[in-house]
Amino acid sequence: MKARDTIVAVATPPGKGGVGVVRISGTLVPQIAAALLGGIPPARLARLGTWRDARGGLLDTGLALYFPAPHSYTGEHVLELHGHGGDVSLDALVERIVELGARRARAGEFTERAFLNDKIDLAQAEAIADLIDAGSRRAAQAALRSLQGEFSARVNATRAALTSLRVYVEAAIDFPEEEIDFLGSQELRERLEDVRQRLGSVLKAAEEGAILARGLTIAIAGPPNAGKSTLMNALAGHDVSIVTPVAGTTRDLLRERVQVEGVAVELIDTAGLREVTADAIEAEGMRRAREAIHRADHLLFLVDASEDPQAKAFEIERATLPAGVPVTMVMNKVDLLPRMPDAVAATADAPAVLPISAATGAGLDVLRRHIAALAGLGGEGEGAFSARARHVDALQRAMAHLDAATAQLGGKQGELAALELREAQRELGEVVGDVTSDELLGRIFGSFCIGK
Ligand code: GDP
Repeated sequence: MKARDTIVAVATPPGKGGVGVVRISGTLVPQIAAALLGGIPPARLARLGTWRDARGGLLDTGLALYFPAPHSYTGEHVLELHGHGGDVSLDALVERIVELGARRARAGEFTERAFLNDKIDLAQAEAIADLIDAGSRRAAQAALRSLQGEFSARVNATRAALTSLRVYVEAAIDFPEEEIDFLGSQELRERLEDVRQRLGSVLKAAEEGAILARGLTIAIAGPPNAGKSTLMNALAGHDVSIVTPVAGTTRDLLRERVQVEGVAVELIDTAGLREVTADAIEAEGMRRAREAIHRADHLLFLVDASEDPQAKAFEIERATLPAGVPVTMVMNKVDLLPRMPDAVAATADAPAVLPISAATGAGLDVLRRHIAALAGLGGEGEGAFSARARHVDALQRAMAHLDAATAQLGGKQGELAALELREAQRELGEVVGDVTSDELLGRIFGSFCIGK
């Protein structure tokens, strides 16, 4: 553990509260405790006391908790003072501790020290921030799983497999006379495939985790009068869109944050996508609708099943929909049909088809579960863990290096393949924080709240 200066901050949010906590971390903690509390408290036992300023004036009374290094959140000596929750008295207490030699902590600095002192890795540190920021119960659970190290363990297992693959390839390079045989061997192909599968599965889980952490964005598209606004209202549970029987009523984008099966979902109700309109406002609505569809995680394409049972509207629109955004076909107004059609699962070249009635609520429970599954939930029963765009990017780059290594091995270019594998490993190291730049750490911890 490196010696660092001693930091102090209020750890509870600003405002009035029953209890307010001041946290101090660093080598000066025993000294500060002696001056403020009249002695060093016993380790990890709450002690009631009265805290005074330099002239003996009363600051607050409360509980002191001492965590000697290394058994603390930061790995350093930590003192927590649980006083009364009010900005003025907590600030006065912090000021006194600054007089005694500490300095005010920057945002995320306690967690940064926990990372620098190897108490947690970088992915776990980020999970702490994600837990605090969680916008839904599922996101909070996922962040907890990452915090407990599930995500890091998966990344590290992939790194270990990659290490043994690298050893194998580098050994081949060291024995040039046998290199060609080595590089073409079945064993090498199998190892490479093993690493690819591990990386692919952790990448998929990270993508789902990133969606869960920030929430899912779903655009609801389809021809005018298909029932988009009605569906949005049904999912939101209250009226957010104006529903009228006149085509082209929904003029602007309407966004609504809802929780679907515990997942945070942003629904975007897009303007009726009509090809020609003389109305400038409606045209602007259409332009924004197309933009939103391009950025969404998923698209629900709604058709009026009573008027368009073959979903011709989808075939017409298909070419104009962004290729990268997955689609679910929603057949609405099934209450007008003689019987409820069956749902159809997605295939390689056709989207899933779900029959619903936004008006009566029929089929909406299936649609809700479908949406939760899009966020990676409910599928294989495997718990999701939280991840960030940063992790997904690094894992994707690792995959690209793995692909390049595979191509180089195919061309019997051992040296070049080894280089790509090393790069892939470096990318994985960046996820857990073994290889990081100060700039990256500054960006990550700078986004935390003060006192965390
Ligand atoms: P949008 O233009 O796609 O947003 O469509 P709206 O939500 O405004 O709905 C157009 C019309 O269809 C309204 O009169 C709705 O009441 C009606 N509608 C919407 N969903 C259903 C449904 O499931 N069944 C029936 N019978 N009518 C519906």
